[in-house]
Amino acid sequence: MNNPRILFWHRKDLRIFDNQALIKAFSLSNAITSTYILDKNYSHDFNANSRAWFLGNSLRELGNNWKKMGSRLIIEEGDPILIIPQLANIINAKFVVWNKSIEPYEINRDLQIKNSLKKINIQVIESWDHLLIEPSKIFSGNNTPYSVYGPFYKNIKSKLNLLGKYDESNINFNFQDIDDEFRDYLKIKRSDSVLNKFLENINFSGSKICPCRPGEKGAEKLLENFINKQTIFSYNSTRDFPSHNGTSYLSASLRFGTISIRKVWNATLNLNSVCENQEKYLSIETWQKELVWREFYQHCLFHFPELENGPYRKKWDQFPWQNNNEWFLHWSNGETGVPIVDAAMRQLNSTGWMHNRCRMIVASFLVKDLICNWQMGEKKFMEMLVDGDLAANNGGWQWSASSGMDPKPLRIFNPYTQAKKFDPICEYIKFWIPELFKVSNSDLLNGEISNLEKNNYLKPIVNHNFQQRLFKSLYAEI
Ligand SMILES: Cc1cc2nc3c(=O)[nH]c(=O)nc-3n(C[C@H](O)[C@H](O)[C@H](O)COP(=O)(O)OP(=O)(O)OC[C@H]3O[C@@H](n4cnc5c(N)ncnc54)[C@H](O)[C@@H]3O)c2cc1C
Repeated sequence: MNNPRILFWHRKDLRIFDNQALIKAFSLSNAITSTYILDKNYSHDFNANSRAWFLGNSLRELGNNWKKMGSRLIIEEGDPILIIPQLANIINAKFVVWNKSIEPYEINRDLQIKNSLKKINIQVIESWDHLLIEPSKIFSGNNTPYSVYGPFYKNIKSKLNLLGKYDESNINFNFQDIDDEFRDYLKIKRSDSVLNKFLENINFSGSKICPCRPGEKGAEKLLENFINKQTIFSYNSTRDFPSHNGTSYLSASLRFGTISIRKVWNATLNLNSVCENQEKYLSIETWQKELVWREFYQHCLFHFPELENGPYRKKWDQFPWQNNNEWFLHWSNGETGVPIVDAAMRQLNSTGWMHNRCRMIVASFLVKDLICNWQMGEKKFMEMLVDGDLAANNGGWQWSASSGMDPKPLRIFNPYTQAKKFDPICEYIKFWIPELFKVSNSDLLNGEISNLEKNNYLKPIVNHNFQQRLFKSLYAEI
């Protein structure tokens, strides 16, 4: 009997290794054809030049990997609600297989596709892949979804310790391609031309300096570097310093699924088991906590889809935002006159990536100093970030705005204190704002305007102390 034909739909899982749904599909049949759809209704994957670059190059590698394994990746653009059933029908698929998503739009879209496929007797098989633990498998003591990170971390950590050893060995996939009759029908060359056209239209000048690397190989290399160069062992003490290469740069790889979260987590467990030194052990644990922040925000969005549209704490709907457009533009362009903020925004605009400490600083500055609605910043980040991800970005912005899942009522960062602490010799600031090269570090850190002006650098557009008081008084009203 012929193997049943399967259509495998890649979404946020642009890899072959340890792909849960693909493993499931392969256990049914090796006659697998894969597809990726540039979804015209879901622009989050490619509406930033940096993300389009990351996506396009990851797809190119993925397509080659499918070829090497005997089959193909069909790349289409349009509406998956129409394309998936059509494609499944054309190749005579008995099953369509994919990994589940957590975003509201994706969940709704998938539901419609499942209904259409059911009508034409094609079975859908789904898996969880993007997360360490399915959102429906972990709840707080009173059986409700977690909304505070601390207890979520405790629970998930104990569950992950019980998961047992993860199998690192790769399945030796050998796929069976579609028959000639279907190849003609699909005019196979179209996939290459869709991807080529997509790649040609990408206008991302930061590809050489963006620290994230597309593709499975790129992700593998980043993880290897992070571990082999021992960066992970000093993560606890270096991760907050934006001028140090102290983090993994894996955010885009995890966002697009070019690496498996289980592989990443397992790497930390393997290190733990050979780690005798307390500082190293702490560093690994701190990094694990960051991976769990990722997990936490994904679970939150799954359980509270309304987060996408507004604050978790409803009182923030009443906040009298000032939304000064001119200030917002200064912030966006890295021209606020506050060095650490401008350096960070210039890093984002040039490379598509920004250090986590700086994301918190610029977010606090936009919301608490410039009194702009956090959603303006959230949108700007999504337009620029190579790792721009609805759940993580929304979580980060709501945390910074104090409107989200953070038990602390009001958090305000002083950008000057932050710079003194985390860029004490102004390496980061001077790298991104070369016009400040000759200004003394102490003048810079203290915001000594007169000296800064001498070097053609802008005066701060606002006074931090004044704005902070104003923000607090507005906050008192809600
Ligand atoms: C306002 C704001 C917006 C953010 N937007 C995004 C976003 O769109 N996409 C995104 O992936 N991260 C976002 N983050 C989280 C964090 O800044 C990045 O994940 C991190 O800087 C990526 O660098 P790295 O891979 O070297 O991280 P590492 O320090 O090496 O951390 C390892 C991984 O853990 C995860 N992680 C680390 N910190 C966080 C965090 N605070 N929240 C969620 N996941 C985390 C990421 O997947 C990261 O790759 C945002 C943070 C803030 C404050």
